[in-house]
Amino acid sequence: MITVTKPFFPPIEEFFGYVKQVYDNNWLTNNGPLLVQLETKLKEKLDVPHLLVTSNGTIAIQIAIRALELEGEIITTPFSYVATTSSILWQHCTPVFADIDPFTFNMDPSTIEKLITPETTAILPAHVFGNSCDIDAIQEIADRHSLRVIYDGAHCFGTKYKGESVFKSGDISTASFHATKLFNTAEGGAVITNNPDLNAKMEFHRNFGHNGPGIFEDVGINGKNSELHAAFGLANLPYADEILGRLKALSIYYDVQLSGIPLQTQTINPDCEYNYAYYPVIFPTEEILLKTFNALQVENVFTRRYFAPSLNRLKFVKGNPAPVSEDISRRILCLPLYFSLTEKEIERITSIIRKSWRN
Ligand SMILES: *Cc1c(COP(=O)(O)O)cnc(C)c1O
Repeated sequence: MITVTKPFFPPIEEFFGYVKQVYDNNWLTNNGPLLVQLETKLKEKLDVPHLLVTSNGTIAIQIAIRALELEGEIITTPFSYVATTSSILWQHCTPVFADIDPFTFNMDPSTIEKLITPETTAILPAHVFGNSCDIDAIQEIADRHSLRVIYDGAHCFGTKYKGESVFKSGDISTASFHATKLFNTAEGGAVITNNPDLNAKMEFHRNFGHNGPGIFEDVGINGKNSELHAAFGLANLPYADEILGRLKALSIYYDVQLSGIPLQTQTINPDCEYNYAYYPVIFPTEEILLKTFNALQVENVFTRRYFAPSLNRLKFVKGNPAPVSEDISRRILCLPLYFSLTEKEIERITSIIRKSWRN
């Protein structure tokens, strides 16, 4: 069986080495020494001044919205994982959907301005599949209208924009370290900002608003992560470069094996140093997609219709139309891509795709 993704596991003895430290420290959570160590290493690795590890990437978005005190309408992307939109709703804000570019799959900056109303307070795009947004164009619009910017960076561990960490963009960027992401701590995420005041505020938010025993600085939530998750992350982090390299090699192998088949692949922003986290392909029609999806499934190859439905079509959302996103959502399939996938398996997958195309 080949699944669309498989979590990366560090060698068990390396994980146990850190677990031993958890026992020796007799410290399980609440900003313990391993979590602090993980944050320090992540700041170095991602080249960012401030980073707070959270329990997951969804609470990271919620904390970001709360820290910026956003209300009213937030302009967001209809083409992302459901958490991007549901975090906005969870914070009692209204998502307004700016359509995407049909080639990069990211928010198209030219669709943003006509959606701005007196109620608009922020823009919340995602760097989809690790491909960075047109950050300068989005920031320019945000500055012109005094809007805040939060980037959902759940996919973009290792991505750079104009030679710099993509996580330096916007007022706040978020990350996810969920099991299925390029770098994982089983469950986990982060909020990242260049602004020390915002960082301090989010540190309170993450920890019930505590500022010492019995002192509550601000209303908070429990967004902390544990020493055991930090242990898994610390054991995984030394493999991040190897993972990035392997995913790149596998993606290039897919490109070669799929050549001649009329599938559209993602256009990477020319300003982006891409992390090759996903391998999405666009079919000419949904009918052909379903034929291929089923042919793969019969052979125990499980692909995923990421991202479908288009988020403006969620039944609990009063979404404005986003025709490009709706169209792409119907025709996109993510092919299996993970560290332990082999070239042989890619040959098997692509030969099934090739055959399904013929009959
Ligand atoms: C995974 C993901 C999230 C949520 O992250 P969790 O850590 O699973 O909560 C948010 N946005 C996008 C785009 C994601 O892919």
